[in-house]
Amino acid sequence: MAEFKHKKSLGQNFLKDEKVLNDIAQAIKLEENDLVIEIGPGQGALTKKLQNENVNLICYEIDERTKPYLDKIKNGKTNIIYQDILKSDLQKDISFYKYEKLYVIANLPYYITTPIIKKIIESNINVDGMLLMVQDEVANRFCAQPKSKEYGSLTIYLNYYFEIKKLFVVPSYCFEPAPKVDSAVVEFAKRKKTWQLKNEEIFFNLVKEAFHLKRKNLKNNLVNYDLEKIDKILEENNLSLQNRAEEIPIEVFIKIANFLSK
Ligand code: SAM
Repeated sequence: MAEFKHKKSLGQNFLKDEKVLNDIAQAIKLEENDLVIEIGPGQGALTKKLQNENVNLICYEIDERTKPYLDKIKNGKTNIIYQDILKSDLQKDISFYKYEKLYVIANLPYYITTPIIKKIIESNINVDGMLLMVQDEVANRFCAQPKSKEYGSLTIYLNYYFEIKKLFVVPSYCFEPAPKVDSAVVEFAKRKKTWQLKNEEIFFNLVKEAFHLKRKNLKNNLVNYDLEKIDKILEENNLSLQNRAEEIPIEVFIKIANFLSK
């Protein structure tokens, strides 16, 4: 086979470390009746490991130059769809399967990490969990705690849907070609305890506005809101309008949104 020229523009950093590949495939206890969506199988390094778990697999790959590699491993339980994941109809594609649990497992193309996660959430396919390789600094934003510089509206958006845990860091030398930064594998588990939120639209708008100008406090960012109401909830939680959004835990944003929804 002719030498494969990796396309930087498609985030083609292929994972070559056997141990990391095994650790990813085994981090979630997969069962035979589970369905796994893999995004960007590339030359199939992770796909092969997932095939060992005997699950049904749907893989989305944008680059048809990978076909000679993937043709070799495709089988009755592995369906490769050559398509941009962002343009796919996930609901339709999974509707052909009967499955117990649905997972997304991928070494993501980093240039579209957040759009891919948003696509999965907005597709309403009710995933049980996701295991995603992302840039390490992005992983830190996903799992950030309030009062840290990584904590932002993206943290809140994702933690609203999932319990998120960084499992392990993967050094750049584990990839071919090696990216400039380290990566990390992050687990997204479907929330067992869901937030008691009355109105998602009010909540997400509130969070967006609160973080609008990063250096400004809540009083300045939330000028269009009923500040008296907001202050009441903040005070009950030992916070004030002088605090910045990055100091506010998700549960306090939920309480404020619920109070505003009354
Ligand atoms: N899974 C392989 C591995 O671990 O070695 C490859 C991972 S590589 C980081 C990302 C893969 O995503 C590449 O194969 C790339 O072609 C593919 N990709 C990039 N953009 C994509 C898109 N919009 N939709 C589907 N696949 C995409």
